[in-house]
Amino acid sequence: MSFLQGIAASSGIAIAKAYRLVEPDLSFEKKTVENAEAEVARFDAAIAQSKTELEAIRDNAKENLGADKAAIFEAHLLVLSDPELLSPIQDKVKSEKVNAEVALKETADMFITMFESMDNEYMRERAADIRDVTKRVLSHLLGVKIVNPSMISEEVIVVAEDLTPSDTAQLNRQFVKGFTTDIGGRTSHSAIMARSLEIPAVVGTKVATKDIQNGDLVIVDGLKGEVHINPTPELVEQYKKENEAFEAQKAEWAKLKNEKTYSQDGHHVELVANIGTPKDLEGVINNGGEGVGLYRTEFLYMGRDQLPTEEEQFESYKAVLEGLAGKPVVVRTLDIGGDKELPYLSLPKEMNPFLGFRAIRLCLEEKDMFRTQLRALLRASTYGNLKIMFPMIATLDEFRQAKAMLEEEKAKLISEGVAVSEDIEVGIMVEIPSTAVLADQFAKEVDFFSIGTNDLIQYTMAADRMNERVSYLYQPYSPSILRLVKMVIDAAHKEGKWTGMCGEMAGDETAIPLLLGLGLDEFSMSATSILKARAQIRHLSKSDMEKMAEQALQLPTTEEVVKIVKEAANLK
Ligand code: PEP
Ligand code: MG
Repeated sequence: MSFLQGIAASSGIAIAKAYRLVEPDLSFEKKTVENAEAEVARFDAAIAQSKTELEAIRDNAKENLGADKAAIFEAHLLVLSDPELLSPIQDKVKSEKVNAEVALKETADMFITMFESMDNEYMRERAADIRDVTKRVLSHLLGVKIVNPSMISEEVIVVAEDLTPSDTAQLNRQFVKGFTTDIGGRTSHSAIMARSLEIPAVVGTKVATKDIQNGDLVIVDGLKGEVHINPTPELVEQYKKENEAFEAQKAEWAKLKNEKTYSQDGHHVELVANIGTPKDLEGVINNGGEGVGLYRTEFLYMGRDQLPTEEEQFESYKAVLEGLAGKPVVVRTLDIGGDKELPYLSLPKEMNPFLGFRAIRLCLEEKDMFRTQLRALLRASTYGNLKIMFPMIATLDEFRQAKAMLEEEKAKLISEGVAVSEDIEVGIMVEIPSTAVLADQFAKEVDFFSIGTNDLIQYTMAADRMNERVSYLYQPYSPSILRLVKMVIDAAHKEGKWTGMCGEMAGDETAIPLLLGLGLDEFSMSATSILKARAQIRHLSKSDMEKMAEQALQLPTTEEVVKIVKEAANLK
């Protein structure tokens, strides 16, 4: 039995066998082959095995994830049947008497380089397909296994170095009971998605993939951030009991599902949810969400090999607006970059992706892509209560440019006879300290603010949110962060506007008393945190929290803030 300490990323307890989702070693050496015919036959067999495997993955993806996700595998199957790729490999084996691995890699690399340098998006996407297919065929030639999260078909705990958001999106909740990773922090996107999927998770353990073997029995304690490997039967029993207690607590909270959220002294706040796809709506409704405070639309663009069309986007936005039947839905425009990549955009690698060409910066350059999204949103606006917000705004000029593009698309649609709602609020995320500091000026032009503390804290503390070694600097209760939050809320209120928060801080039980005291109007969190937050706020007095928050703003350290919050809000 052994034990790892990580970062509690998604609450709950999971006990199951480990399933390692680790990149296989695909290295090989160059060899001369005596019997070229036999080597070609070995290559052909690897192609046939790859086809069978891809067909199964495609069918599985179609059933569990939808036809659009399955389309990637369809494209891979086409590559595997393309004589223009296969013949040169077979010829190379015969003429140069090299092993199939070398012939495959060298030929594929040549095509990849050629396609990637073309000024044609379709061909650049084919380069990505060839790269993926090459890996698969190589794995069969080398006799190693490529693991695919969508193929998991028994109850497991996934163990990975890291999970990309698109890996996480492919996890099937029925089988994936929990996961643990070597890297990542509480606000990395795989952790955020785990919370919306209600999968217990511990991230940032540093050594999970080193210490855990396939088939080991693993306990993931997403409440304390602990991972136990091959635990004693006594510990398993103890955890089963803890899990039962947690479930009982959840049943208590569930009684508040249809209630509004009032503090003990009658102050009303909105509790809304963060979602990534229309599929998350069920969780919002089941958890008593009063709307959506952040729809991360970038997930619509991920796990596929081309941009979603205006029509596809329109359908998703409409589904969410209709699903919430008039409740507010804040849709954030595309926020790609940082830890969210879109390989098919073929953007150059950057030294500091979180400080780079991302989100609104990218959208203001890639105008066609941005305008397509804006049109889809505007067309959907008549189906519910839509609010639009722009991510990563650093200057007023960026906001003005984005808003002008929105107005232009609106005017165009109206002139085409398309109905567009007249009262769409347009706001911004406050994630960059420059914007928080200048909130009084922004408040004159925006309809609302939503504070994105995941990024606001990383930029204020200069601490990468993905790096577990600096995760101690993720300090939402630091007086420095609280002062910025206060500046934003006060600036909005002065102009008669509202302020929400959609960073993970909004659902944190130590932060909630402070935010209530600072006057936050809307708290947007993982759907699974809503009922617990509602139960907590009902027991807090707004006027007491105001006094406590005032005091907190004057304290020198996070530790001292935590101490007074715990006393005032009765937290353990
Ligand atoms: C944030 O930065 O707080 C936020 C909500 O956006 P994301 O986590 O998607 O960067
Ligand atoms: Mg952000």
